[in-house]
Amino acid sequence: MKSIVSNNEECFFCKTTRNLHLHHIYFGPNRKISDKNGFTVYLCAYHHNMSNDSVHSNRKLDLNLKKYCQIRYERKHTREDFIQLIGKSYL
Ligand SMILES: [Zn+2]
Ligand SMILES: [Zn+2]
Repeated sequence: MKSIVSNNEECFFCKTTRNLHLHHIYFGPNRKISDKNGFTVYLCAYHHNMSNDSVHSNRKLDLNLKKYCQIRYERKHTREDFIQLIGKSYL
């Protein structure tokens, strides 16, 4: 499914269009659920996993993105729906 966060082919953080990776916002065991529900976003390599400012290294950045995505999801669904999918609320 298309991303519910942004369909722009640019890094969510710095807006570059170079070296993009598709990141699963709730990764690990929730990767497939993220795919199915559009909990994905484009990130440049730097912001994805190639620096200390990347979502895979910086816990705070990771949580901010998780919260943002949940807010977007809850525009059209309930918090219970979200918890059913991901197992917990980040808000
Ligand atoms: Zn970036
Ligand atoms: Zn990732």
